[in-house]
Amino acid sequence: MTTAQIELYDTMTRSKRPFEPLEPGKVKLYSCGPTVYGDPHIGNFRSFVSADLLRRWLEYRGYDVTMVMNVTDIEDKTIRDSAKAGEPIREFTQRYTQSFLRGLDAMNILRATANPRATEYIPQMITFIQALIDKGAAYVADDGVYFDIDKYTSYGRLSGVDLAQVQATERMAKDEYDKESAQDFVLWKRSTPEELKRSENEPGLAWNSPWDRGRPGWHIECSVMTRDLLGDTLDIHAGGEDLVFPHHTNEIAQSETLTGKQFVRYWVHIRHLMINGKKMSKSLGNYVSFDEVLAKYSADAFRYFYLGTHYRRPLDYTDDAMKSAEGSAKRLENTLDLLDAAMKGPDTNLDIGPRERKLLEEVEKHRAAFEAAMDDDLDSHTAIDSLHAMSGAINEYLTASPNKGVALKAYRTYRALLDALGLFEKRGGGADKLTEDLIKTLIEMRNQYRKEKNYKAADEVRNRLTAVGVTLADNAEGTTWKIGNK
Ligand SMILES: [Zn+2]
Repeated sequence: MTTAQIELYDTMTRSKRPFEPLEPGKVKLYSCGPTVYGDPHIGNFRSFVSADLLRRWLEYRGYDVTMVMNVTDIEDKTIRDSAKAGEPIREFTQRYTQSFLRGLDAMNILRATANPRATEYIPQMITFIQALIDKGAAYVADDGVYFDIDKYTSYGRLSGVDLAQVQATERMAKDEYDKESAQDFVLWKRSTPEELKRSENEPGLAWNSPWDRGRPGWHIECSVMTRDLLGDTLDIHAGGEDLVFPHHTNEIAQSETLTGKQFVRYWVHIRHLMINGKKMSKSLGNYVSFDEVLAKYSADAFRYFYLGTHYRRPLDYTDDAMKSAEGSAKRLENTLDLLDAAMKGPDTNLDIGPRERKLLEEVEKHRAAFEAAMDDDLDSHTAIDSLHAMSGAINEYLTASPNKGVALKAYRTYRALLDALGLFEKRGGGADKLTEDLIKTLIEMRNQYRKEKNYKAADEVRNRLTAVGVTLADNAEGTTWKIGNK
């Protein structure tokens, strides 16, 4: 453990606070994952990359991090859109879960300790809801079970809901709604006749419960999975800013009512990605797909684009911004190439002279500035400035014959900081003729499977290629591929 002091902006107190985990040296981190009803888009990934940055920085500072990111595979939208697609809900959500995990790998996002799926926790959800009923904080209505927000006196503190404006006699059956309609929210939804009919031959849509066949509301899912995997109190709960209300507001009410303990010590919320001045979202239909961006730019350029702006500041997706990120990322990577070449080159300079001392001093200075910026609520924007300054100093040193020991020392520091940002970790080469032919053969097989509507086999080919570092992108002209991130 270092003695470094990380400060995080906590949405609950609306202030930056020194980070202290409940148990010294250990961090329990929960990040809300996706609702799997479509391919991931780049708006979602701002939040996932930021959570990954948080986890990496905590680890850089010596913390032992247990990170959980859930997958919401039962919710209003998964039911609605699997019906639209004419596909059984379980296959539908599994397909998009794979697509999400593939996106994480492509973006070099470290896998969480666990990625629980909501449908695997139904018995625990039923027990949790029953306990809330027993405590008098929840009640059974004709269409399901509801949480009585009057029974939790701090309701809405996270999001600033004014309870005086709320008529607590009303109920909200939907998973998503705005702050003005804060009402008793749903914990368990009785299945509709249509859902009951579907559930006869579709597993994963309705479950037996003391309150008839039905399914959990969205908010209870996270309260149950966090408790089961991380315990009553989390050190950090992260997620996109749109989750503050109602999702996280309701999670707090459920969890604290049940346990009587503080649910979360630090709430970290990530700003939306914007496009043309509007929030990018699937429901607004203004999203850019993940594959579309990765077909044009490297994953490192894409990560750089996100990290170049502090996670709580506005960020607009434009082609110009991506091109500029690509150029800046290349400059940083070029220094790695120069260092590689220097260390493979002749060993003629054995001196530690003024040039060497100057380089080592500069590397130390920029490392300290990088760390200070990251400790300050993950200011990756300022940290990247220090990285460019370090890169400039190294490039300058390498213009004359370098001392290899000194170059190695600079390399180690530079590499460690890049690792903290998750940049250039998959530096790889191109393919030889045989490899190219093999990849093309596999792509043709995948296309044939798709023509035959054998999507399972087609996805398997793609996943196996991803696993060995080959990324595919489908576009109007067909399928393109590349090796690694380059
Ligand atoms: Zn959640």
